[in-house]
Amino acid sequence: MVYGVPKCECGTELTYAEFRLQERIYKIKSDGTPFKKPLRIFDGDSQHSSLYCQKCGNSYSIDSYSAVN
Ligand SMILES: [Zn+2]
Repeated sequence: MVYGVPKCECGTELTYAEFRLQERIYKIKSDGTPFKKPLRIFDGDSQHSSLYCQKCGNSYSIDSYSAVN
């Protein structure tokens, strides 16, 4: 990682985006479709993370960002 807040090419401070797998368990209604509200939610591990610019939408992998800068 870099020291300080990483910045996009456009000069905007990047945000940290984390993607996680999540497993949701639903009860099933009598018509065969699941209820809207999950019974249980299992939070998975972080799948990957990236640095994201909220202004221009660029995203950088954390590894490549620290290599470039
Ligand atoms: Zn940007």
